[in-house]
Amino acid sequence: MASSEDVFRKYQEYVATSFVKKVEPIAIAEGRGAYVRDLDGKEYLDCFSGISVANTGHCQEKVVKAIQDQAGRLLHCCTYMYHVAPAAELAERLAKIAPDGLRKTFFSNSGAEAIECALKMGKKFTRKHEVIALMCSFHGRTLGTLSVTGQWGRRRYDMGPYLGGVSFAPAPYCYRCSLGQTYPECGIQCAHMIEDIIEYSSSNNVAEFIAEPILGEGGIIVPPPEYFKTVKKIIDQHGIIFIDDEVQTGFGRTGRMFGIEHYQVTPDIMCLAKGIASGMPLGACMAKAEIADSYEPGDHLSTFGGNPVSCAAGVASLDVMLEQDLPKQSQTKGEYLLKRIRELQSTESIIGEVRGRGLMVGVELVEEHKHKTPAEGKAAKIKELLRMKGILVGVGGVKGNVVRIQPPLVITEQQLDTLIDHLAGSMREAR
Ligand code: PLP
Repeated sequence: MASSEDVFRKYQEYVATSFVKKVEPIAIAEGRGAYVRDLDGKEYLDCFSGISVANTGHCQEKVVKAIQDQAGRLLHCCTYMYHVAPAAELAERLAKIAPDGLRKTFFSNSGAEAIECALKMGKKFTRKHEVIALMCSFHGRTLGTLSVTGQWGRRRYDMGPYLGGVSFAPAPYCYRCSLGQTYPECGIQCAHMIEDIIEYSSSNNVAEFIAEPILGEGGIIVPPPEYFKTVKKIIDQHGIIFIDDEVQTGFGRTGRMFGIEHYQVTPDIMCLAKGIASGMPLGACMAKAEIADSYEPGDHLSTFGGNPVSCAAGVASLDVMLEQDLPKQSQTKGEYLLKRIRELQSTESIIGEVRGRGLMVGVELVEEHKHKTPAEGKAAKIKELLRMKGILVGVGGVKGNVVRIQPPLVITEQQLDTLIDHLAGSMREAR
């Protein structure tokens, strides 16, 4: 078997890794439940789930079995034939659990592709062409998805031109409100501004509004409870459809099956990926039938979309999520995690804000509280210290100063306690 050094060398020589500042110096070989193990046999408590993917846990038995069974029967079948494969089964199952009315699914291979599908579909359906997206949002790395990603400084330099006709509304980021307001006295001005954006910043040709129910890469930004209802009321009046990007918030991550369920709003299109198939590549764009049916032959297709093995993993993952009620587990464990980390706030002055829902938790770090100077370097340091102690977390946020905790939903309270103890220790060391 290759050694860790062999793997590092081959990566450095042959794999393009320039998309991250630094690849973690560990070579992961196996995973089980909430743990992964590297080639040297060291175990890590994975509190980031491979960027919020392994919701059912690594190598969940039932999912692995479904993949093995399907792989022995059929690996691939083209999109323009019916196939006795799990795509239809998964689409039906998704329609049963999705918010009301979302009935038809286009399968793809990734989150970005699901968003591309949605952006095109919304334009085709409305016969309009402009888009409203949120500042601080993240929707993927293709040219189309970057065009609606509201992080120009961090994600979009030197690769344009991007799509025109995109306007950005202020993020519902109460800790760092662009409008200088304080919630709830603000009356959620950021949501009401969408009316102004339609009037003054578009040519009144807006097809769609795209948003994540919780802004993940942006730093686990949780919009106020009435945010989406207010926005939906405004966009409905203008015939604008709502694209709900659930790539990161879907499949129990936030304590509900889909993040938008916290907001009592029904999207017109919903995009899924990441946790959908426990790690197999799969994306899905679900839409109301009349919207999905606006696509005409040739408008959209993906060679691998709806791959039988990925869809088999998707069906099995859904079974596991429902049998084990993972959304509920995520909610309960998330409340515990938030409470425990908030307790650290009294002693750890580096913590600016702790926020999240379910097992999607962000800890925003600051150098001082008055000006909320982002502690970017410290977030990276804490991540490194935790890794050395055998715990994996993520770092993100528009200022790069948010420690992201998004473990498999099967993680235990005891394992969360281990994380919290080490998090506290690492914060002190980083200080
Ligand atoms: N949308 C959101 C909210 C995401 O977090 C991501 C990825 O992090 C994407 C879209 C893009 O998904 P993918 O990396 O599968 O293309």
